This record gives sequence, C-alpha cells and structure tokens, in this order.
Amino acid sequence: AKGAAMVTAVAYRLADQSRQIAQTLAEFRLTKEQLLVVKRKMRIEIENGLGKQSHNTSTVKMLPTFVRSTPDGTEHGDFLALDLGGTNFRVLLVKIRSGKRRTVEMHNKIYAIPLEIMQGTGEELFDHIVHCISDFLDYMGMKNARLPLGFTFSFPCKQTSLDAGILIKWTKGFKATDCEGEDVVNLLREGIKRREEFDLDVVAVVNDTVGTMMTCAYEEPTCEIGLIAGTGSNACYMEEMRNIETVEGTEGRMCVNMEWGAFGDNGCLDDIRTKYDEAVDELSLNAGKQKYEKMCSGMYLGEIVRNILIDLTKRGFLFRGQISETLKTRGIFETKFLSQIESDRLALLQVRSILQQLGLDSTCDDSIIVKEVCGTVSRRAAQLCGAGMAAVVDKIRENRGLDHLDITVGVDGTLYKSGLPVMHQTVKELAPQCDVNFLLSEDGSGKGAALITAVGCRMRQQEQQ
Ligand code: BGC
Ligand code: MG
Repeated sequence: AKGAAMVTAVAYRLADQSRQIAQTLAEFRLTKEQLLVVKRKMRIEIENGLGKQSHNTSTVKMLPTFVRSTPDGTEHGDFLALDLGGTNFRVLLVKIRSGKRRTVEMHNKIYAIPLEIMQGTGEELFDHIVHCISDFLDYMGMKNARLPLGFTFSFPCKQTSLDAGILIKWTKGFKATDCEGEDVVNLLREGIKRREEFDLDVVAVVNDTVGTMMTCAYEEPTCEIGLIAGTGSNACYMEEMRNIETVEGTEGRMCVNMEWGAFGDNGCLDDIRTKYDEAVDELSLNAGKQKYEKMCSGMYLGEIVRNILIDLTKRGFLFRGQISETLKTRGIFETKFLSQIESDRLALLQVRSILQQLGLDSTCDDSIIVKEVCGTVSRRAAQLCGAGMAAVVDKIRENRGLDHLDITVGVDGTLYKSGLPVMHQTVKELAPQCDVNFLLSEDGSGKGAALITAVGCRMRQQEQQ
C-alpha cells in the first residue's frame, strides 16, 4: 500500500508539473482575437506615422525612402554595394545587365565586425568599414574604378533624399558613439577621405527591407512589400504619395520604411508581453525600445527561450533543478539552434545532442520540454509578424479601393525559413481579402541596393540633361 501511495504521489507531482509548464507557455499562445487586436493597433500606428502632425510622436516611424518605383528591367551598370546591419558586414560588386537577357552577377566578401567596433566610436566603425572596402577593391583589382555605391544600412534613418540618411537610433547589437543624429552617408564619405586611398560615389542609402523588396520585384513585379525576419524585424511597402504627409507631392507612390520594430514602444503591446519579454528587454542594449522586434526577431528569441528555461529550472521542472553556468550565459541560443531544435523532423535524441553541444546535460523529458518552449516562442514570433503583415496588406488593398488584393512579399532573414507557414496562415486568417505570396530572397539587400543605385544614377543623368 505504501508503494502504491508513492506511485500516486509521483504521478500527482508529474501531472502538476506539466500543468504548470503548460500554464507558463499558455501566455505565449495568442488567440485569433488577440492577433486581430495587434493588427488593429499596427494599423493605428501606420496612420500615425504617415500623418503630418502625428508623425513626430508615433512609434512606427513610416520613413520615406525616396524610392519611387520598383525596377523595370532597364537597370544597367557595375555597382558597389555595402550591407551593414545584420550578422555580418558585406561588400559586393554587382554587375547588372539589361536587354533581352537580363543578368545580375555578384561578387562579395564577408567581413566580421568585432564587438568592440560595433560598440566603440563612430569614427572607428567607419574606418573599419572603409578598411574592408579597401580590402575588397584590392581583392577585385579595381582600386581606381570610382564606381557608384549603394549603402544598405539596416537601421532607422530619416531620409531627405536618396543619398542622405540621418541615423535616428541604433538598434540590434550596435551602439557606436557619435552616429545618432548624423547623416551616415557623410560619415562614410568622411571615412573614405580620411583614408586618402580611393574615391567612391555614394548614390543611395537603403534599408535592407527596401533592398529585399527591390530584389524580389526585379523577378516578380507584383512584389511591393519587403520583410526582414532576421537579426532584426522590419517591413517596407509601396505607399501612395497622397498618404505620406511628411513628403511634398501627391502623385504616384513611394516606398516607406515602416520601422515596425518600434511598435509597442508606447506600451500598446504590454498586455501580451510576458515577464520573460520584459527581462529580455531590460538586459538589452536599448531597454524600452523595439518591443515588437524583441518578440519577433532572431536576436532576441533565443534569449526569451533561455529566460523561460531558467525559470522552469528554478521551479525544479528542468535539468534536475540545476542552473548551469551555460544556462546563465547570454546569447547561447542562437537562432540556428532554435530552429533546429523546434524542427519537426528532428528526433528527441538529436535535440539532446544539440543541447549537449551547448553544454546542457538533458534527460529525455528535458528535451521534450525544451523543444516545446522553442516551438512556442517561435510560433508566437511568426504569428505576431503575420498580424503586422495583415495590417499592411489590408492597408494597401484599401489604398487601391479593392475588394481583393493579390500581392507578393519579398522576405529575407534566417528566421522564417521555418516560421513562414505559420506567418502565412496568420495573414490568411487576419486579412482574408488578400492573397499574399511570400517570395524568399537569398541575400537580397545587397543586390537591391545596387538596383536602387542604378535607378538613382539614371535619375541623376536625367536631371543633368
Ligand atoms: C532596424 C531596421 C531593419 C531591421 C532588420 C531593425 O532593428 O531598425 O532598420 O530593417 O532591423 O534588419
Ligand atoms: Mg541583411
């Protein structure tokens, strides 16, 4: 009888444990109603960002990009492109050929940006960038070419023309001094001058969302939205000039860099943020900022997971109640592990071996729980991103006075290789009058910068004539 009582006690404890874990994760499971509220709030912020008066205080900035059309296939020439703001810094040579056989040929080199440079002085950062360009030009044997250059700079910039962008605020892992409030094209030009080695013609500064949209639109003309679901999270789309009250003119369209990562910075998402989201925000470089991005993007999802795992371990549900040094280490769950762990194709044994690689000793039960945590956090990210996208496509549909809209979204970023189906499903449910096609672009931001530079050069020639 004593044995039976013990078995019952253990069974109770296990049942109670799984109930408590389920309760913890339930906060991350958003209902359709909650997601509809997110969509509605995003729409309000979109309108605020576009309005002449409301723009100044709105969280979603809706920044004009001065890109007035998607490519038409006549783009032509050799261009340099820089891509700063994701995991790596890249320098590219892009050769675009128009005519009967359109081709784009790309050469690129990837450079690491050491942490001390990302978070050092602005001068050091731009000296490093120019050093990398110099290395690339040597490598390609074209130091004397003076090519037109497009600068993909994936941070919020206030643009007054195609080739001027004042950095509003660093995001993600960057915090170099003396850059906020400055025109990053000037900072680049000054860096080039300081080196006294070569000259470049900076034609355009481009957000990565815009580069991605342009790259996809080059292949697929119905692409009028760009989405990044990578280290950071953001979207852009073609808005009607008449609705962009922050720019003169009412004719035609202009691409707007939404900077939707800052959605929620006025507290409007606080009711769905969990204590784990708050913990991640508080320990970040930019506490209180980019709240939506911190629920959606690769740089933060691993940290949310880690915070949940620490809590579950403290409560004795995981890792035999032992919080290891590894688990205390910030940043251990990189996106790539996260998507591996949550992948349906992965057997539990493989999950355990990944955890082992990370230095976490897990039992079989542990691995089941970890997998569920990763899946739940990723799913919420994809759904939230889908809710934002639903707001965008419905806005475009209404702009055009349509009952039904067919549209393509160009997507880049490691995160939505796996999250795409969930995001797609969410958009379908929340914006039933739109058929949205997602087109994945492999390194679209560099190529897109070159396409925009090509258009910029053409416009410049027209002005000179
Ligand atoms: C930046 C955006 C960028 C996004 C994706 C965000 O943190 O503010 O400008 O598009 O990351 O890279
Ligand atoms: Mg990128």
